[in-house]
Amino acid sequence: MTDLPADPLLLSEARRLDAEDPLSGFRDRFHPVPEGTVFLNGASLGRMPAATPALVDEVLRGQWGDRLAHARAQWLDLPRRAGDRIAEVALGARPGEVVVGDCTSVNLYKLAVAALRARPGRATVLVEDDTFPTDRYVLSGVAADAGATLRVLPAHPDLGLDPEVLRDALDDGVALVCLCLVAPRSGALLDMAGITAAVHEAGALMLWDLSHAAGAVPIDLTGCGADLAVGSTYKHLLAGPGSPALLYVRRDLQPLLTQPVQGWYGHRDQLALLPAYEPDPGIRRFLTGSPPVLSIVASGAGLDLIAEAGLDRIRAKSTALTGFFQRLADRELVPRGFRPASPPEPARRGAHLTYERPGAPELVPFFAEAGVFVDPALPDRVRISPVPLSTRFTDLCEAVERMCRVVDVVDGRGEGRTA
Ligand SMILES: *Cc1c(COP(=O)(O)O)cnc(C)c1O
Repeated sequence: MTDLPADPLLLSEARRLDAEDPLSGFRDRFHPVPEGTVFLNGASLGRMPAATPALVDEVLRGQWGDRLAHARAQWLDLPRRAGDRIAEVALGARPGEVVVGDCTSVNLYKLAVAALRARPGRATVLVEDDTFPTDRYVLSGVAADAGATLRVLPAHPDLGLDPEVLRDALDDGVALVCLCLVAPRSGALLDMAGITAAVHEAGALMLWDLSHAAGAVPIDLTGCGADLAVGSTYKHLLAGPGSPALLYVRRDLQPLLTQPVQGWYGHRDQLALLPAYEPDPGIRRFLTGSPPVLSIVASGAGLDLIAEAGLDRIRAKSTALTGFFQRLADRELVPRGFRPASPPEPARRGAHLTYERPGAPELVPFFAEAGVFVDPALPDRVRISPVPLSTRFTDLCEAVERMCRVVDVVDGRGEGRTA
């Protein structure tokens, strides 16, 4: 490859880090990327494990194709079985506390309604202003239906929500607090145990959105005393496009909460087809209808890889990758006008970094043309998220070098310059 950084020291360090990487063998367990491509957008959609297509093929040919509806019995309990597996591998939750089935937005809706019903007399929902928009859309609808007020707390766009801002907003009128453990844009990582405790002290319920955290950082829902959680599986959990989201409810809360979309998958005796709805006593009451079987089965391959590698090692590699990217960026991208817009310390962020430069999202298609895939983050940012199990440190050198070439051309300084 000719696309290498100008700094030979950083490059030789990258080569050494690759050679010493205990997870380097996992790179071959993914579907190979086209030659010369560097994927740095794992926060949008994780890479495909090489084992995924065979799992889906078995459902299609082996189960649907050969056995038709006779195969259906083994699909009925899929949302729970898959939930237990995610709970064990990535969430620090116990069996019977997690299901998958609907998208994050719908799961958020179900749990937010359930939480407001469980806190009658309290009429405030707290959220922060740097969350993913769908969370605010859902919560504002839920709050309006319940006659409650959605209060949006200001978060720092680079550093995330200051816990003091939250503490000042907590009082006995708050029913529910909903926050992202890892901020979708900046990557700021919150103190899950401390915030959960503060919310409980105020008598409110805490709903965590784990979309950018699950599979990226070790999570201990049980140890934190968490109440409720939702989150994407197609990002760091490597589950594949359209895979359904996780939904967590702590065991002792389950019988106390009811959700608004009552369907047969949530019934205590699903196959009896009784005329009246009676919710399952456990986590199944948060399900509604037939699960996306192909997507859930497809999600197994990524979870197997994560379980085998271990989340602690994934986290260590992830912070090493983003830390190394910061050093490359300080040297090459910052002088080209990119401002770091994430918490500088690895311990205070998830698995991605954000950089700000006026018009940066418009560069994203040019970066992709040069083989470097990153996410735009509005209004003026790009998001960089290397998949730890498949990204080499030398890939980062190559990516930064190519990004610089693109920027230099755009700025009229590079090879594309005329005269
Ligand atoms: C990715 C993401 C979602 C996705 O929601 P869907 O309903 O599954 O499309 C929701 N919330 C956050 C914070 C996200 O990052």
